[in-house]
Amino acid sequence: MSILKAVRGTRDLLPPETELWNYVESTARSVFARYNFGEIRTPVFEDTQLFARGVGEETDIVSKEMYTWEDRARAQSEKAQSLTLRPENTAGVVRAYIEHKLGETGQLQKLYYIGPQFRRERPQKGRYRQFYQIGAEVIGPPSAGSESPLRDAEVLEMLASLLDALGISGWTLNINSVGSASDRPLYVEKLREALKPVVGQMCVDCQRRAETNPLRVLDCKVPEDQGIIDTLPRIADSLDEASTAHFAAVCAALDACGVPYHRNHRLVRGLDYYTRTTFEFTHGGLGAQNALLGGGRYDGLSEMLGGPKAPGIGFAIGEDRLVLTLEAQRAGEHLAELADAYLAPMGTALDAPALALARELRREGLRIDLGDGSFRLKKSFESGNKVARQIVLFGEDELQSGILTVKNFSTGEQTKVPREQLVAMLKST
Ligand code: AMP
Repeated sequence: MSILKAVRGTRDLLPPETELWNYVESTARSVFARYNFGEIRTPVFEDTQLFARGVGEETDIVSKEMYTWEDRARAQSEKAQSLTLRPENTAGVVRAYIEHKLGETGQLQKLYYIGPQFRRERPQKGRYRQFYQIGAEVIGPPSAGSESPLRDAEVLEMLASLLDALGISGWTLNINSVGSASDRPLYVEKLREALKPVVGQMCVDCQRRAETNPLRVLDCKVPEDQGIIDTLPRIADSLDEASTAHFAAVCAALDACGVPYHRNHRLVRGLDYYTRTTFEFTHGGLGAQNALLGGGRYDGLSEMLGGPKAPGIGFAIGEDRLVLTLEAQRAGEHLAELADAYLAPMGTALDAPALALARELRREGLRIDLGDGSFRLKKSFESGNKVARQIVLFGEDELQSGILTVKNFSTGEQTKVPREQLVAMLKST
């Protein structure tokens, strides 16, 4: 019979690697808490229309990469519906914001999420079909200050602090402004005009993008196209006064808190909903897929989804890529945490009392791996040596006398320890 495997582009995360995932997630949670963010969990699948309207029909994500299916009605009261596994989480958060009328609180909503996203991309290192994002959104009515450039700068400063807290060094912050909803069409028109005479010499993707979504030409990585792209008009020259001032204020606030950044005129990002500030943190160690995270402002998204005016800014970190970066930085380090002790019952009659002792030790906060009374002594030692720092031998004599034998695997030292002193002894070594 053929062996079933995880589907292409998906993978299992196993210990000890999952320790790193947990470390990343708990660090993110504690940093977000310091900035007074709360967690939101939205469903993994949504109405397909949410992404078509929110992310944009012409984007690669919606046109090529979504996992969409027709969900059959199971009762007369239900209608068949087109559903999609979420390819990103911002649209879902904004849908929830609208659905639960969070704008009516009059306060800024500061929400973070951690979870899987799904895109049918060509799998490669750092690119998967099920991948994980850690993201956050700051959204609210304009009266709550949601349009303020201070929000953009605070989010960027928080990201820099999170990467620092994780111990990720060598990141680069690229920022740009893609203008307001009124600046953008003017620029896109200019770009279309400038592309007309040259697009015939560009790659097929650019030829398509020039028609459907000219901004995406700026994202092209094909080496032969780079010379032409450098001659195209810059969006910075098409921004109106308000957008220019907004961007300048973001940069000034970043300067004030000492977060380094690089203005990248070609950073437009893939999703239609972005307005004004866009950004990406890259890391050299990641190879071709070098974007650690990306985000930006989406001042019109709520209205595009039928909601009230609710400007916002957010980001999504590629958790898979964060973990890859940390693994590369910590290459050679032993990831697996060893148990404090391996408790070895010597004979099956000792299994039950050993479980009772393990329970007591674990309740004291010790990490205990419990062996099996059917193992011979040699096998207990071999098993224990793989998973724990020391072994506690638990036989009939020990049960009667209350004195246990503990052997430390790294020093080879063997000691007799009275039961009352066992916890302190295991904790101290
Ligand atoms: P995006 O939602 O496209 O702006 O992506 C935000 C971040 O998610 C990127 O910077 C990547 O780190 C990560 N990401 C996007 N797509 C994938 C993927 N297919 N596999 C792994 N990470 C991804």
